[in-house]
Amino acid sequence: MTDVQMTLDEVHALTMRCLVAHGCDEANAGAVADVITAAERDGCHSHGLMRVAGYVATLKSGKVNGHANPTVEHIAPAVVRVQGDAGFAPLAHARGRSALIDTVKTQGIAAMSLVNIHHFAALWSEVEPIAEQGLCAMACVSYKPAVIPAGGTKPLYGTNPLAFGWPRRNHPPMIFDQASSVMARGEVMLAAREGKELPPGVGVDADGQPTTDPDKVLEGALLAFGGHKGSSIAMMIELFAGALIGECLSFEAAERDNNDGGPPQGGELIIAMDPNHFGDADGWADHAEKLFARIEAQDGARLPSSRRYKNREQSLSAGVSVSSKVHEQILQMCAQG
Ligand code: NDP
Repeated sequence: MTDVQMTLDEVHALTMRCLVAHGCDEANAGAVADVITAAERDGCHSHGLMRVAGYVATLKSGKVNGHANPTVEHIAPAVVRVQGDAGFAPLAHARGRSALIDTVKTQGIAAMSLVNIHHFAALWSEVEPIAEQGLCAMACVSYKPAVIPAGGTKPLYGTNPLAFGWPRRNHPPMIFDQASSVMARGEVMLAAREGKELPPGVGVDADGQPTTDPDKVLEGALLAFGGHKGSSIAMMIELFAGALIGECLSFEAAERDNNDGGPPQGGELIIAMDPNHFGDADGWADHAEKLFARIEAQDGARLPSSRRYKNREQSLSAGVSVSSKVHEQILQMCAQG
């Protein structure tokens, strides 16, 4: 089957149509469609249209509130909290972002906690608009257990991504956004579907034994990247996105979840800083560029996010190529709504 060529407007409209058909209001559907369209635009297909089925599953099961009305409040001078009203994360972000940015610009550093949300997106799309305002930002979110603590045998941590954005003067922000597992679960599923073996060191089977069989890893667990170091980062994310903000840890999210195929309820933490308040207001931007220039001067090295920005440039003029299977599945879901 050949891929389907779509404009970004068509991607957005199709996502909206499908979510609205399944009971989402325009505000919530629009916010989700924004992040799905951005993912397709930047070539991050694992968080693009293929996620629509998961979003729809949660609307159908009633787990997610398609009419969520997230509210924003300051719970400390430099802490903004968004109550997500059991909705999808994107509208909660859109509502809270300007309060966070304003607070960072006055306080120098601030955090935003998001509670009672359902998160199913890539994190770069959440730190990028903050970094575009001249701020550094870090975001982290947990999920359901898929990763074992170093030395252990049973999944306990989510794939727990961490994203970091750094603002640049004459370039889009530098952003990295990475899961805490060696390989994203979606990639393992893809290998299983294609009958491919995994490289060693990705995961273990249900008995905690190392395996390169993707089906066995899906029944078992993934390993954290970098051994105990990645494992500690996954743990930190559990604490930041859970214990710190009064939200659930990954294992608690799993206990509450109805396993409808969409994201569980949980929390997220964003921390942002204004580099103009840290003692080198005139120098920080050029100073950072010296580092970036030396990275890029090395053969084979690149800045994180440069792949996405290249894809973006192309998609903005030529549109995107969408898997016909995914396209067909969404059309069918639209008809069933
Ligand atoms: P990757 O391993 O593909 O990439 C991680 C980061 O490394 C990206 O910022 C990427 O930039 C950068 N990068 C990749 N290769 C290089 C290189 N050679 N040199 C420099 N930088 C490089 O991502 P993951 O598989 O770990 O995660 C994929 C996505 O899944 C993330 O967006 C994450 O937010 C999301 N996710 C979401 C979860 C959720 O619960 N919502 C759970 C887990 C993951 P670039 O993009 O430019 O390639």
